[in-house]
Amino acid sequence: MYAIKCDICKDVIGDERKKIMVGFGWDRFDLCAACGWEVVDFLQDKKLVKLEDVSC
Ligand SMILES: [Zn+2]
Repeated sequence: MYAIKCDICKDVIGDERKKIMVGFGWDRFDLCAACGWEVVDFLQDKKLVKLEDVSC
């Protein structure tokens, strides 16, 4: 088992379901919900994001 860390604030996300994966085409970031939605909002505004729903 490994700890998933937010790529922005470096907090351990811990729960896989709270992870937000953001793909930029050339790279991917695992983000906590707080950072993730900020980034997603920003990128969706610019039509740059492909959001994968990992909550299952
Ligand atoms: Zn974060």
